[in-house]
Amino acid sequence: MLPLFYCPDMHEFTLVQNLVGQLEHLAAMHNAEHICKVKVEIGSRAGVVVDSFRFAFEVISQEVSLTKGSVLEIIETLPQNKCLECHMIFDSGSERLDSFTVTCPFCDSKHNMLYGGDEIRLLQVEME
Ligand SMILES: [Zn+2]
Repeated sequence: MLPLFYCPDMHEFTLVQNLVGQLEHLAAMHNAEHICKVKVEIGSRAGVVVDSFRFAFEVISQEVSLTKGSVLEIIETLPQNKCLECHMIFDSGSERLDSFTVTCPFCDSKHNMLYGGDEIRLLQVEME
């Protein structure tokens, strides 16, 4: 049953529902009865509001006995850059959109594009 303040328009609720579905599947595969801890990676370009995701998890996880009291850890990641000259992928250390301000550490080219940072990944699950 969904709580009264459930907001179906909130994108993060859908994501968390998918996550909980994934956890139910994993738990069934491993004969686990409870999820203790979940570690999720969220890229800064994934279009996810991390606070909303956390809130949605708090709400939804309490409604499911499998995830009740589960600890959620979120790792926020920045995109990398991919050099268009030598095709190496490197960390620019920031989320700069202007590729011409970032220099490739391998060939000194300034022609690169943002790479990744748009993923939502389940990194680790502790269950019992
Ligand atoms: Zn390069």
